[in-house]
Amino acid sequence: MIDRYLNWQRNDCVCGREHTIETSLVWIAPDAIDELPHALQLLALGRRGAVLYDRITRAVAGERVVDRVRSAGYTVQALELPDRRGVGHPVCSVEAVAVIEAELEPVDWLLAVGAGTINDLAKMVSFRRSIPFAVVATAPSMNGYTSSIVAILEAGVKRTKPAHQPLAVFAEPNILAEAPARLIHAGVGDLLSKPVSQTDWVLSREVLGEYFCPLPGELVDRNVDALFDDVAAIARRDPAALGRLMETIVLSGFSMALAGTSSPASGGEHLLSHYWDMGRYARDQAPLALHGTQVGIASILTARLYERLLELESLPAPRPLEPADEAGLESWVQARHSELPDFVVDGIIEQSRAKWREVRAQDERLEALPASWPMLRSMLADASSTRHRIEPALAELAAPVRPEQIAVDRPSALHTLRVCRDIRSRYSILDFLARFGLLEPWVEDVLE
Ligand SMILES: [Zn+2]
Ligand SMILES: [Zn+2]
Repeated sequence: MIDRYLNWQRNDCVCGREHTIETSLVWIAPDAIDELPHALQLLALGRRGAVLYDRITRAVAGERVVDRVRSAGYTVQALELPDRRGVGHPVCSVEAVAVIEAELEPVDWLLAVGAGTINDLAKMVSFRRSIPFAVVATAPSMNGYTSSIVAILEAGVKRTKPAHQPLAVFAEPNILAEAPARLIHAGVGDLLSKPVSQTDWVLSREVLGEYFCPLPGELVDRNVDALFDDVAAIARRDPAALGRLMETIVLSGFSMALAGTSSPASGGEHLLSHYWDMGRYARDQAPLALHGTQVGIASILTARLYERLLELESLPAPRPLEPADEAGLESWVQARHSELPDFVVDGIIEQSRAKWREVRAQDERLEALPASWPMLRSMLADASSTRHRIEPALAELAAPVRPEQIAVDRPSALHTLRVCRDIRSRYSILDFLARFGLLEPWVEDVLE
């Protein structure tokens, strides 16, 4: 399945856009690290490279990677990224990028050994240097390995920045199987959000006429479906199941890269997670729980909202857009996010304004939705047919399924459900329900 999409290009898609996947090689096998020299040769990479790892991934695979590549005659700079002070591990931030750039010698390529943070940092630094990068994945903890974007912390706010895809991805199933449980839970959580994020994308297409392509969904559908059945094998750390999980992670990254947007894998559930993170950063300068862990919990909440919505035989008339005019937007946002620092609220105002304008421009479309509710409902039902499977799957892994399990208390969870849709222009079930007056009456219930 993956091989078909390597170095892939398509310019006759129904969506009208050209799709490209830059990754040339994905090697998920017990000998992946041993085969690195062959792979570098195959990819025609230069003789001088750098390997980036942190304190932990150095021991897991970093030293072995450096030895193996050096023994094949390559000149390798080994770079260990320091832990962020007070956090106990590195963080993907603008400051960390500067640390690496200051130390990185002139090299032909960069090889990351690690998971989300190390991969994103190598992706960003190599993109800025215009050199290729590859990654040896040490944990199946998130779906961003093969995407072309990075999530980076800038002045306390997590932002998504454009970068490039890895030229190659390597992973040894035995190493993945020994990753800490919380990293595996996070990877599964990030992937299981797909039925709801995809449904949000369909909703956005129908309500706002947003760009949509069926291909990203088709790319991962079968794998995500199989993942629900693979959870028991993942829970007992079966290396073959971990290898399959990694394949789905690779495909999920491809799905975002070819869409040119994270929409196929990031909807309202991701906004809940980002808002929890923003509150926590503002207080403690540290993330709450792993991204995918939060996303898994958040997906259960948005899936429940979809469940309620799909029970409706008819859709009420939409309420007037809030705030009524753009001049009132700034104070409206400020009042809703008073617990966040000003510079964060400024960013939210900008995003809210973009969404407000987009929704306003489509008001006629929205007014017409109650009349076409049966059709819209069937589109949403199709796309979210696996929604009731998310919670049992995470529970089977013994992964957290409720906000309280990641230190989000009920008042914060309620507040986040009410306001997190403001932080990004991305349209989701949360915007839709709010507009039809359904969010407020339902938020308490979904937390039960
Ligand atoms: Zn397309
Ligand atoms: Zn995600």
